[in-house]
Amino acid sequence: MKPKSFLIIPTVLVLFAIALVLDPAGKGLTKAYGQKKPKTVKEWVICREKLEALVDKEEIGTPGFESAVLQICGKRPAAETKINPAPASSKADLPFKIDCSELDAERQAICKSYLATTRDEVYPHLRDITGTSLSSCYDSVYYKIIPGSASASRGAGGLTSRNRITYGQRYSVDLKPPYDVHELLHSISQCNGALDEHVFHGAIMNAVYVRMGRKPAYSKESASENQNRLIKAAETSGGADLHDKCRAILGEQITIAYFDLGEEAIRRLYQTTISPHPVSLPNKRLVDLWGKSSSIKVQALLEALKGEYKHSLNVPACGY
Ligand SMILES: [Zn+2]
Repeated sequence: MKPKSFLIIPTVLVLFAIALVLDPAGKGLTKAYGQKKPKTVKEWVICREKLEALVDKEEIGTPGFESAVLQICGKRPAAETKINPAPASSKADLPFKIDCSELDAERQAICKSYLATTRDEVYPHLRDITGTSLSSCYDSVYYKIIPGSASASRGAGGLTSRNRITYGQRYSVDLKPPYDVHELLHSISQCNGALDEHVFHGAIMNAVYVRMGRKPAYSKESASENQNRLIKAAETSGGADLHDKCRAILGEQITIAYFDLGEEAIRRLYQTTISPHPVSLPNKRLVDLWGKSSSIKVQALLEALKGEYKHSLNVPACGY
């Protein structure tokens, strides 16, 4: 048992105490932490956010925090997913907001159009392809654009924590044409619980770009080349490095599938991972690499891919 595991139970007890002290009248927090566990994804997200604001995640670690969420908010309810909801031309069903206060005055106009294109064009396409309306999870989507990169330590261009998206200026409003697809797809997958980890980003970004009259973001050729290189490299990799490679191999396969099978197949494959019901249990390698919950999504995806393609990926190092 890791030393930090000891902190979980006291943390949960402390949180109950805090909830009682902060909210003796029986509204808000008590609703979130009381006997009534959240029934909708939206309630669950709010419960989790409140917990996040109360505890020091660094202190108890991610597993400790997730375990406290499970205790207090319960299991995440299934997303109320509508297959093929509104047509892509229809409006956004929740407000989008943007904070560009750290940027120069002359960038403010582009910030406005960045948000408008993302909300009015990108989002309806993503909603259509993923079958998920963000209003089923969130009240608003918040963008924050900063001058440097979103995470100095990881050099990431953007970061998404559910409905809060932070982007470095260079990776957002400075792009031509300027709009966001990448982080918004993370936000959607964090809402509906689909397999994320960039497995669908290549294919879905391609689909959105093409719908918006652009060339695909990633080509079939480069996806195949990358995949071959990664399959070879996976044979001699281990640990986190192997996980990264196996994740990318699957991602390249989905990008290739976009070209071979079309957008409709990508939509089916993505939605298969939202509430996965694989025929077989994931093998041990898949569970080791992806963890219990994601490996079930990966297994469902591999089975669906086999059904679509009539053949399967053959990468023993990854458990495929
Ligand atoms: Zn990403």
